[in-house]
Amino acid sequence: MPADYHTHTPLCHHAQGTPQAFVDAAIAANLSEYGISDHAPVCPEPFDDWRMKLADVPTYLEWIAQARSHAAGRIPIRAGYECDWLPHCEPWIEKLAAHAEWDYLIGSVHYLEDWNFDDPKWLGRWAQADVEDVWKRYWHSYAEMAMSGLFDLLGHPDLIKKFTHLPPGDLDRFYEPAIDAIAAAGCAIEINTAGLHKPCAEMYPAPRFLELACSAGIPIVISSDAHDPSHVARDFAQAADLARQIGFRETVLFHQRQRSYEPLLTTPCEC
Ligand code: ZN
Ligand code: FE
Ligand code: FE
Ligand code: ZN
Repeated sequence: MPADYHTHTPLCHHAQGTPQAFVDAAIAANLSEYGISDHAPVCPEPFDDWRMKLADVPTYLEWIAQARSHAAGRIPIRAGYECDWLPHCEPWIEKLAAHAEWDYLIGSVHYLEDWNFDDPKWLGRWAQADVEDVWKRYWHSYAEMAMSGLFDLLGHPDLIKKFTHLPPGDLDRFYEPAIDAIAAAGCAIEINTAGLHKPCAEMYPAPRFLELACSAGIPIVISSDAHDPSHVARDFAQAADLARQIGFRETVLFHQRQRSYEPLLTTPCEC
């Protein structure tokens, strides 16, 4: 199985499990590597209630150290942050990048201005929203995040579909400019299986987005976005099969923000 780099810790207040339990789950799933990427702090604080505070960073580094000592030669442990792409966040992301010797930084769009559109708490906003306009703004922000060059990996590309608000017609008009930006910036993207367990009931991104990404030579990883040890590597066989069908033949590995690749093998049936 490929690496699983997008996973969380209890420091974000909506995940559970010990470093030992996450590592055991990664080993049981036969992952090549396990990566920890909890929701990074945002400055100024308080910002929202679903991330670690700046004061929690030493505890986060300790959590990673415990995972490493428990794994001890059995599986490589990588680490980074899942960072929020927000207006004028660039100097802050540079500060986050200097907190430790990270293996990768994930960039994610969870906000359009002050709207945390993927949080069920803010679902009401969709009622007044012009879906076409929301999608335009989302993908514009996503492309800017790619072009910033601050991130190794871009998270859940079409998260904006989470609650099934999709504009009518062919979605390539949104995908194509984002694909161009991601390819030009040289970022990797993830196939995030958590979407299967959300109202959209589909991985992020949609298969069509992956086809365009494959044609553009954009590298991929497969991620669970685990918030519990039982989520680690969830649906990876299905994601790997989809990726192979689309034409991908390898996934990316990150170590100290350097990339290498491993072959994307056909996965044995899970039944
Ligand atoms: Zn989360
Ligand atoms: Fe996220
Ligand atoms: Fe996440
Ligand atoms: Zn995420």
